[in-house]
Amino acid sequence: MIDPVDHRNDREDSNVIGVPLTPQAQATLERHRAWMQQAIALAAEAGSRGEIPVGAIVVNEQNEAIATGVNRRETDGDPTAHAEIVALRAAGRALGSWRLDRCTLYVTLEPCLMCAGAIVMARLGLLVYGADDLKAGAVRSIVNLPDCAASNHAVPTIGGILGAPCRELLQRWFQERRRSS
Ligand SMILES: [Zn+2]
Repeated sequence: MIDPVDHRNDREDSNVIGVPLTPQAQATLERHRAWMQQAIALAAEAGSRGEIPVGAIVVNEQNEAIATGVNRRETDGDPTAHAEIVALRAAGRALGSWRLDRCTLYVTLEPCLMCAGAIVMARLGLLVYGADDLKAGAVRSIVNLPDCAASNHAVPTIGGILGAPCRELLQRWFQERRRSS
């Protein structure tokens, strides 16, 4: 799932052209990192219960969390119970609306085909993810579902927020699982 030598996720910290961020851009980046840190904590907790550690949080326009989700495939015996799907469903229930165009979804791993599809269907306002998924990523890495002809909604997307810790959490989890099997 994750290539251990890939460092594309480190790009948020590499200021290659040496231009400092504006204070406003810096504040936005810090806000994204703070939510991603919480998504990582959710993911780690799911990992300790035997689920692949992926965590997601939906935040509203007032920068308040309205829903969270973790991977629950094993727990629920549900092939669709990815963190993003769980969080999007909970957000829809919280808002009483399927339309999440004023919401931001934070997720520790680049969404797969199914989740990218759900994100388009929800008309999500902003997607922020951590690690690229070089095997199955459907937002940028393998395919770009939100930008394909069948998609009726372009999804503003920021990738690589705390990419390295998101990736390391997954790598560690898979390593530990290989060791114990
Ligand atoms: Zn998914």
